[in-house]
Amino acid sequence: MKKVYNPGKTELAELLKRPSKNIEDVERTVNQIFGEVSYMGDEAVKKYTSLFDGAYPDKIKVTPEEIQAAEALVSEELKEAIQLAKSNIESFHAAQKTEKVSVETVAGVECWQEKRPIQKVGLYIPGGSAPLFSTILMLAVPAQIAGCKEMVLCTPPNKEGKVNPVILYTAKLCGIDTILKVGGIQAIAGMTFGTESIPKVYKIFGPGNQFVTVAKQMATKYNVSIDMPAGPSELLVVADDSADAVFVASDLLSQAEHGGDSQVILISLSEVFLEKVEAEVQKQLQDLPRKDIAAEAIENSRLIFVNDQKEALAIINEYAPEHFIVCTEDSDFFVNGIENAGSVFIGNNTPESAGDYASGTNHTLPTNGYAKQYSGVNLDSFLKTISFQKISEEGIQNIGPAIELMADAEGLKAHKRAVSFRLKALKNSSDE
Ligand SMILES: [Zn+2]
Repeated sequence: MKKVYNPGKTELAELLKRPSKNIEDVERTVNQIFGEVSYMGDEAVKKYTSLFDGAYPDKIKVTPEEIQAAEALVSEELKEAIQLAKSNIESFHAAQKTEKVSVETVAGVECWQEKRPIQKVGLYIPGGSAPLFSTILMLAVPAQIAGCKEMVLCTPPNKEGKVNPVILYTAKLCGIDTILKVGGIQAIAGMTFGTESIPKVYKIFGPGNQFVTVAKQMATKYNVSIDMPAGPSELLVVADDSADAVFVASDLLSQAEHGGDSQVILISLSEVFLEKVEAEVQKQLQDLPRKDIAAEAIENSRLIFVNDQKEALAIINEYAPEHFIVCTEDSDFFVNGIENAGSVFIGNNTPESAGDYASGTNHTLPTNGYAKQYSGVNLDSFLKTISFQKISEEGIQNIGPAIELMADAEGLKAHKRAVSFRLKALKNSSDE
């Protein structure tokens, strides 16, 4: 872990840099697979599934029998835990519904806006080193509350051509009936173009490795939108002597075990505390099953001591962390002052894991500094806003002359006429 005391401006900029990767090679691969999937559909999808996943599933779509069999493989205890998480996520996201907004801007001009669900959404759930069934809850629950008509879930099969039973169980629990054994670039391409087995969708959600990320960006070139540009997971903790070093070390490691490229940062207002955490991290690291992954991330992590709160806050807002934990005496200072963060965890009893699984907030969050302009996934991510207007005779008379003038000034004669004809007709009818 890199330890720094009161870093200067240039040193800080260097310290807070995210590791960047060269994606040119990835783009070339993504381009090729997109091309093949758009022309050859399932055939290309199967080809790349065997190439990348070493699997040859005869059917891409998971069968009802497979889903039923999976249910028996999940323990009752885990089912109850998933149910608890699901109901908390439901409560929090259902509460995000908003009323129709309606205003009469001037007499006779009625304007309002209402939300409507995105009809077809695609959820990408990585298989890989950890089966992220929690992500299904985070995406499918709000999609269902929003009223999305079609939910498609893509997840890579293992070498035997099977999908992890917990993923199948959770997907079914969330009302998803189209589950497809396809991962990586070919999954994103499939949902972008549609194939014999994979329905085309309007928006793609979900985390993934670098290949999936670049593929999602490619999808946007074909009129499919995405939740957000995703990067490796991050956590920033600000703490002082009121925090618990054991807790903070466990939080840092919880993010570190996501991947070797995860970034964790501790900003401490106390030198003693900083050293306590440093020792504790090494101690806790030893018996983690994902020790190697966590150690790699910890290697690139930073412990930064700063003298005062204001300076700490400025650094945090500049970094814009995906996850932000506040364990300080005066937590309000940071809670009120935070401008850029994906999700904030406050106090010694609020681990980041709570938001990952079961408190109710969403865990699909902006990384890589995108918390400066992106929100995490929430109910609105699955909705669009439509504006409506209805203008009466009085209304068109009130705003018509202004529209005529403006259209004329822009040289758009047909626009002007669309108003003039109506005003004239009204005048004629009142003259009669
Ligand atoms: Zn996490």
